[in-house]
Amino acid sequence: MKHIAIIGGGPGGYVAAIRAAQLGAQVSLIEKAKLGGTCLNVGCIPTKALLHSAEVLSEAKNSAKIGLIIPEVGYDWKKVQKNKEKISTRLSGGVNGLLKTNGVTIIAGSAQFINDTTLLITDAAGQTKELRPDKIIIASGSVPALPPIPGINHPNCLDSTAALSLDHVPESLLIIGGGVIGVEMASVYNQFGTKVTIIEMQPGILPLMDGELADMLRKKLIRDGIDILTDTQVLSIATAGDQMKLQVKTDAVTRDIIGAKVLVAIGRKAELSTLALENTTIKTDKKGIIVNAKMQTNVNHIFAIGDCLGKTMLAHVASQQGEVAAENAMDHPAIYDEKTNPSCVYTSPEFAGVGLTQEAIRGHEKDYSIGRFPLAANGKSLIMGDTEGMVKIISDKKYKEIVGVHILGPRATDLIAEGALALRLESTVEEIISTIHAHPTVGEAIKEAALATENRAIHWN
Ligand code: FAD
Repeated sequence: MKHIAIIGGGPGGYVAAIRAAQLGAQVSLIEKAKLGGTCLNVGCIPTKALLHSAEVLSEAKNSAKIGLIIPEVGYDWKKVQKNKEKISTRLSGGVNGLLKTNGVTIIAGSAQFINDTTLLITDAAGQTKELRPDKIIIASGSVPALPPIPGINHPNCLDSTAALSLDHVPESLLIIGGGVIGVEMASVYNQFGTKVTIIEMQPGILPLMDGELADMLRKKLIRDGIDILTDTQVLSIATAGDQMKLQVKTDAVTRDIIGAKVLVAIGRKAELSTLALENTTIKTDKKGIIVNAKMQTNVNHIFAIGDCLGKTMLAHVASQQGEVAAENAMDHPAIYDEKTNPSCVYTSPEFAGVGLTQEAIRGHEKDYSIGRFPLAANGKSLIMGDTEGMVKIISDKKYKEIVGVHILGPRATDLIAEGALALRLESTVEEIISTIHAHPTVGEAIKEAALATENRAIHWN
């Protein structure tokens, strides 16, 4: 029986472990902290739990608009935090159960390489043991990256992990970075009443998403009360009494902004520091471990997946890569294809996209059709009181193949699955148009946007 050792029990590692066990491997999963990794413990799940509480609060505050009388709307932050922790703990326990029922051996400890074939595992008590598996899958994840700004090490400068577990809602929060984590945390705290300012170096927020929809979201967040400073660089961080002071520069103008806490959300870097890769011949680049489409490193029996590659840092990418690595390790050929990878932002409204953006087709616009359908013309969005946003489909003119789907609006992060499937199946707009979409749903807007690529939307001119 083939023995596969997996380093890290996040969504990359635990999925790889289950898939390898399904294929008949003897699997050892080594985890130094908590099963579920960043995603379940300090990432996707806790942020979305806080966002859900924040959204329900906001809906309750606005309930009079739909004829409801809720006499007292408020929150108990301790209970909000407890709810978040309960969900993470339950999911992490679920992963533990899944691994056990699949016969995976879970080893609590930190793994490091002695050489290309041998791992040294050290547990919390300092006990060590060696493993010599047939194959190794590295899934060691990532850690927050800190920019070299003077003053960044002050205790009131938080990373996302600390910002998820504050013991109180701060009066004001200065967020460095307008990427996904920065924007989601801004939404959480803004809805709980914090005065939030986002400082972003680029001309817009969410620079990797479709620019037109990112700009619509930026305007909505500003209307909701969030200050967003774009084209703005943070030069230094200092204290001002019991407050934090950021010196920022927009164009050539320098000024100070003040807030109770600072959240540093400029991104994450591959976590390779505990692996002792210097004892191996595994190749890395500036970002992380280098792999081919089979998720295999330059050392044939060693694979690497997820955030430790330093590329697309998303839980669903790590899991997909985990399945691919496990299958290849068990001699079932599989390839990772990132064409169908959706990007999601869980703000209000939600924002999701898959495939080519309008920026990606710049200079080749004549070869593509763009269909837009505003949610103001969608019945279900109107019922939900959530008409901000649109569905935008980009198709190629020659074959009418769908190459990009972008959605800003309610349930966008669920609806994007249709876009990902359309790209996976190389669907044409006609195939979406001839698929019956239930009424009334937000999903009808996807069919309408497909119709709009042909200039024949039914419910919008
Ligand atoms: P991780 O989840 O980081 O897991 C790696 C594991 O390896 C850790 O448990 C670590 O303890 C362990 N480990 C490391 N080194 C060793 C060692 N030497 N020995 C033993 N164990 C080791 N992604 C999404 O798709 N959707 C979201 O909504 C989303 N929201 C996010 C919100 C925040 C605030 C953050 C920070 C991230 C978010 N992400 C989201 C990103 C997502 O969490 C990561 O992409 C995902 O967890 C990566 O999975 P992974 O398995 O590669 O690594």
